[in-house]
Amino acid sequence: MSENPSNALPSKPRSAASIQSWSGEYDVIVVGFGVAGGAAAIEARRAGASVLILEQQTRGGGATANSEGTIYFGGGTRVQKANGFEDSLQNMHDHVKAAAGPTADPEKVRLYCENSLGHFDFFLSCGIEFKDTYYEEKVIFPPTDDCLIYSGNEQAWPFVEEAKPVPRGHKPMKEGSAGTYLMESLIETFEKEGGEIRNEAKVKTLVRDDADGRVVGVIATIDGENLALRAKGGVILTTGGFVMNKEMLARFAPHLLRCKYPIGSDGCDGSGIRMGMGAGGNAINMHEGLMTTPYFPPNTHISGLLVDARGSRFVNEDCYHGRVTDAILTKADGQAFLIVDDALYDEEKQFVPYPMAAVEETLGELEASLGIPTGELVHTVEAYNAAAATTGEDPTFHKASKWVTPLDNPPYAALDLSVDNSIWAAFTLGGLDTKPTGEVLSVDGEVIPGLFAAGRASAGLTRSGRHYASGMSIGGGSFFGRMAGRTAAGAPPVGE
Ligand SMILES: Cc1cc2nc3c(=O)[nH]c(=O)nc-3n(C[C@H](O)[C@H](O)[C@H](O)COP(=O)(O)OP(=O)(O)OC[C@H]3O[C@@H](n4cnc5c(N)ncnc54)[C@H](O)[C@@H]3O)c2cc1C
Repeated sequence: MSENPSNALPSKPRSAASIQSWSGEYDVIVVGFGVAGGAAAIEARRAGASVLILEQQTRGGGATANSEGTIYFGGGTRVQKANGFEDSLQNMHDHVKAAAGPTADPEKVRLYCENSLGHFDFFLSCGIEFKDTYYEEKVIFPPTDDCLIYSGNEQAWPFVEEAKPVPRGHKPMKEGSAGTYLMESLIETFEKEGGEIRNEAKVKTLVRDDADGRVVGVIATIDGENLALRAKGGVILTTGGFVMNKEMLARFAPHLLRCKYPIGSDGCDGSGIRMGMGAGGNAINMHEGLMTTPYFPPNTHISGLLVDARGSRFVNEDCYHGRVTDAILTKADGQAFLIVDDALYDEEKQFVPYPMAAVEETLGELEASLGIPTGELVHTVEAYNAAAATTGEDPTFHKASKWVTPLDNPPYAALDLSVDNSIWAAFTLGGLDTKPTGEVLSVDGEVIPGLFAAGRASAGLTRSGRHYASGMSIGGGSFFGRMAGRTAAGAPPVGE
């Protein structure tokens, strides 16, 4: 039960008529300095606007700074070409259309792909470097400063039937996680280009003109005072998602509460979404999230078999970890074992540790130890092994043949990947409904004048954790942040 259900409710705007004096006036006010806010602010500034970013923490960064920093680019980037990968904007579009999910906005998908090369250049223009290297192993992110990886389902069935597989995850040039480097580069760029930042400035309320419903400013708590700040061109909400707000999760996406590790920062409390809703904005896709239990590396574990509590397979194990995790929850009731043999099991290379549910000399003993009905696991593995040995294929779930090998080296082990027993993490994908320009839409589909949103505060490019690829959150958030920044500054959209 929620401790304080009102934390999930819309927060009402204040009437502009009640403001006696404004403490500052800008063309554009950006609320929250993550990647979406940074991209919005830099574009608005480059379009000639006076721009203020209000950030509630002591410094910008948000979830983006805590992230690996992988960005989804394609269509023939410098890095793709340097490593011999031929991609095209159409090929990228064919994959992103699938990866964004069935409820994605086709116009956002089209714009994102068509402008992908220019979007790569935007990051270069902010001083962010990418090494011209490809990291071949299937990983969550390269532990080195290498750049290019397969970061989604590009090589997995059924996506492999939609588009030619090429890697599109680009990690900026930093050893390990690159989120902080990415954000520090955006902060430096914005400051260098004349933008103004107020840290420790929490926006509590939007200010709205009662006559025409236009959002004209914000109330922010700065140094213990509530200051009214005016925005002539618009307020852009880039406050991140709501995975840290238990009441919002309970109301909109209760299944995400089962994941013990929220992916984000303290700022992901949904305040921007609630302010937008209070001003009449529609919040959509609020039930969706990206869940993950990162069972690879090691890559040998991809050759193992994921089975449910009845010993049956339910997904091809070579999918993106988020798709597999979603399948465990939705197809296997949250309970799954990864079955490996002695040749595949590699404890040392595990990205995260998993509890060992059982180890036995035979598959029959293993299924008995796991409480799986007699013969079921034996049948599943024998059928898989027979096809693996004769054709090298997985005719049931179409795991790519490079991962298909008979499991016949005892002893056999079962790792427990269940939601209640192992590491599961999640972030939210729902938020304010926006046009590609970032303008927030009401439940009637009307633009709310003066109000914009981007990043995880909006229902952006990607709408489904089942189809998602790493890099689309930072990629989509920054691209549509730029669109919002330009529109709020009165400039034509990106690419025009
Ligand atoms: C460990 C980890 C790894 C990840 N890896 C990747 C990856 O490789 N690629 C990828 O695409 N995605 C990744 N993600 C997800 C991705 O980082 C986020 O979804 C994305 O960065 C969100 O960006 P944003 O700008 O919308 O929000 P954020 O980066 O969270 O920024 C929002 C900012 O708004 C501020 N704020 C909130 N409310 C207020 C308020 N009322 N007033 C003032 N300020 C406010 C917050 O303090 C915060 O600084 C990862 C996330 C994590 C945590």
